[in-house]
Amino acid sequence: MTQDTSALHDLTVAQLAIQLRERKISAVETAQYFLARAQANATLGAFLDLNEEATLAQARTADLALAAGTASALQGVPVAHKDIFVTRDFVTTAGSKMLTGYRSPFDATVVANLAQQGVVTLGKLNCDEFAMGSANENSAFGPVKNPWDTTRTPGGSSGGSAAAVAARLAPAATGTDTGGSIRQPASFCGITGIKPTYGRASRYGMVAFASSLDQAGPMARTAEDCALLLSAMCGPDPDRDSTSLDVPAENFNRSLNESIDGLRIGVPAEFFGEGLAPDVRAAVDAALKEYEKLGAKLVPITLPRTELSIPVYYVIAPAEASSNLSRFDGVKFGHRAEKYVDLVDMYKKTRAEGFGDEVKRRIMIGAYVLSHGYYDAYYLQAQKIRRMIADDFQRAFTECDVIAGPVAPTVAWKLGDKSDDPVASYLADIFTLPGSLAGLPGMSIPVGFGAGHMPVGMQLIGNYLQEAKLLNVAHRFQQATDWHAAKPKGF
Ligand code: GLN
Repeated sequence: MTQDTSALHDLTVAQLAIQLRERKISAVETAQYFLARAQANATLGAFLDLNEEATLAQARTADLALAAGTASALQGVPVAHKDIFVTRDFVTTAGSKMLTGYRSPFDATVVANLAQQGVVTLGKLNCDEFAMGSANENSAFGPVKNPWDTTRTPGGSSGGSAAAVAARLAPAATGTDTGGSIRQPASFCGITGIKPTYGRASRYGMVAFASSLDQAGPMARTAEDCALLLSAMCGPDPDRDSTSLDVPAENFNRSLNESIDGLRIGVPAEFFGEGLAPDVRAAVDAALKEYEKLGAKLVPITLPRTELSIPVYYVIAPAEASSNLSRFDGVKFGHRAEKYVDLVDMYKKTRAEGFGDEVKRRIMIGAYVLSHGYYDAYYLQAQKIRRMIADDFQRAFTECDVIAGPVAPTVAWKLGDKSDDPVASYLADIFTLPGSLAGLPGMSIPVGFGAGHMPVGMQLIGNYLQEAKLLNVAHRFQQATDWHAAKPKGF
């Protein structure tokens, strides 16, 4: 069965799945090929854990199903997981020293759902500590390099996922998005990613950051691949995630090719203001023109509370994080300080040693905004504005079918550029936070290049449960253009 595998890494998930099903290549050969590629490109810093034995065992099982003709849709396709999903066969760290070497007794629902469809786990991917960050520089295990320019950030917090897919170390990866962590790294690395409606994918087994915002989604090279993966990932999980939506699993590929003639694309004025870099603006504008050629109509809309999404998010997310992270106390999980005098001292030393600066900053902000006397002024106020932001979107969706704009104000910045200035990094989340706060599905598709020949992504935001529509709109663009096919030199 062995054949020339020289361009295996260039195949999309859809193409690879066909090759596997037609038995042109085996799942074991595919897994071996990508494992070797991951190892050969270790300097990118994308992978945190590989377990060749476990991966090959899964691949052998896939080959049996392929041989028996009982293969599932994604049988034998290797996918790497953001290290925020717990996995039985791989170490899970959430990018934190606190969880160094941690082994979960179970797989996250998303991981299990993908495995159910025949996906082979390739390994675990670097990310910002507890998914807090926009540059992957908050990982306790070192930053990830952007394959388009290794002196730049791949974005965050799913930086390892985006870099691995862009460098073709994995055909696809999972990511999580709390305030933009799928969309922004996808944009920075020139790949495609989708964050579904809050509640579509189960959060069970996703190390919690901000539970009312956290959402899993796929990162791949095309909208078609994202649709294949998302179809496998989503579904209700009522016993394990009380916020999982009671909507059945869906085949998101069913409407990829539908015409978008007459589609109304809302273009929010606030997404094209002063803060938007001209190179990003040019690429996004050109993409909007392309959509017009495909028959879509551009509708000017307004999302007046866009700017407020930053303070609102940076109150709510830390508040939830401070509560979620209280479980890391040296007793239940992971790291425990070696020297301490009593229980309280053990807690203090464990947390002082185990958490990085950004995580500590968020815990402190969160505890502050939730404390007596400040709760009404900050947390409650933020919750009220969060509702208004969601209402603004509903008003906008009476005038348009989807919303389009930039994902981030600039292309990927140089590693280190914002690492001493947390506020500068928070401000760069401005275009992804509104959709997150509203719980809406959003995606990023590559639409060109900006300064330094760095990829630019366009964001598409849909109304609740409109993932199929978003993927259709993205797929039509990718049928007409080839930005998604561009690849970084040397990969
Ligand atoms: N950059 C945002 C933050 O630091 C979003 C992170 C995310 O979506 N996980 O919180």
